[in-house]
Amino acid sequence: MSLPFNIAIDGHSSCGKSTIAKAVASKYGMRYIDTGAMYRAVTLYCMRNNVIKNKEVDLVKLNAELDNIAINFVFNAETKQSETVLNGENVEKIIRGFEVSDNVSIVAQIQQVREKLIASQQEIGREGNVVMDGRDIGTKVFPDAKLKLFVTASAKIRAQRRYDELKKKGEKVTFEDVLSNLTLRDDHDTNREINPLLQAKDAILIDNSQFSIQKQNALIDDLITTKLGE
Ligand code: C5P
Repeated sequence: MSLPFNIAIDGHSSCGKSTIAKAVASKYGMRYIDTGAMYRAVTLYCMRNNVIKNKEVDLVKLNAELDNIAINFVFNAETKQSETVLNGENVEKIIRGFEVSDNVSIVAQIQQVREKLIASQQEIGREGNVVMDGRDIGTKVFPDAKLKLFVTASAKIRAQRRYDELKKKGEKVTFEDVLSNLTLRDDHDTNREINPLLQAKDAILIDNSQFSIQKQNALIDDLITTKLGE
């Protein structure tokens, strides 16, 4: 099966957007694009090439480097997950680490970065059948998406989920570090001038603080079925 439309999923950091998007993509045969991974890959490039140092971005350097950044996704048949490739290198693991998380919302607020990534996201979605998650998908990338979701949960619950995930991966972080990174990113993402995190007028709000994944999937299935019937 494939869907004749795109689905836009926006929401706060670590609210489970990607869990929803992956489930929808797998059930309906859609392509899943994690736009956060694209901003993370650009951030990693900036960190490695001294474009960002001590949270300060060198805009002249950034402009000179932007065209040298190529981001793709490859499908890992073993894990059945899409993985992020930066200039030919699989960076899936490193972009999820704490250092990249600590810098990403600074890089993501720069206009040139957003223009480059949004253009490529719109190109990917031109034919439909794409489920994309991020912060500005329903408002800027696919303003005409037929189904838009805005996902959130309380900051403490989101931080606990993220902390458990990082611990499982062996990262040495404290719960307080994770909570403070998450609230700082939310603050940056919500208050930045360009394309802030915003619930689109026609987006459906899902607060999953108290939801099981099963209940959430069932709710979204109903929404998709309704949209297919319209
Ligand atoms: O989704 P994830 O938490 O991996 O995204 C990392 C960061 O990338 C966000 O905190 C935000 O600063 C930025 N981002 C964005 N616009 C998107 C997706 C992510 O600004 N569409």
